[in-house]
Amino acid sequence: MQTSSRLYQCLRCHVPVVICHRCDHGQRYCANGCSKQARIASQKRACKKYQTTRAGRLNNAARQQRFRHRQKQKVTHHGSLQTLCHDVLSRQFTPPKSPRVYPKQAVIMRCHHCGEECSYFLRHDFLRHRVSQGNCRC
Ligand SMILES: [Zn+2]
Ligand SMILES: [Zn+2]
Repeated sequence: MQTSSRLYQCLRCHVPVVICHRCDHGQRYCANGCSKQARIASQKRACKKYQTTRAGRLNNAARQQRFRHRQKQKVTHHGSLQTLCHDVLSRQFTPPKSPRVYPKQAVIMRCHHCGEECSYFLRHDFLRHRVSQGNCRC
């Protein structure tokens, strides 16, 4: 049994997402946890802004201290090690990229949220409009 469905693009990872009428509550994110990620991101945004300015200041202070320390001890060529550490750190903060499976054409369309078989006629508008017109067959 094929159900009415909607096609939309995830606001976060931009994958095309098919959603059936039962799962459709006006979602804007995919089923791969983007809504959760987006919520966490928005919660952390303000905090992060504060942290980056603070971290930047601390980093600068630490760098100056290291520089002075090095000048004192006359230790040479520790720069490469420093950049390596920095690389590892910055890599940890980038969001993990998981391989995504794109829906193939001419294959059964399925809701990305519950796996329900969907009709090929995908809407791009929200379900609310149809319900208000009295087309709900529940
Ligand atoms: Zn997504
Ligand atoms: Zn569904």
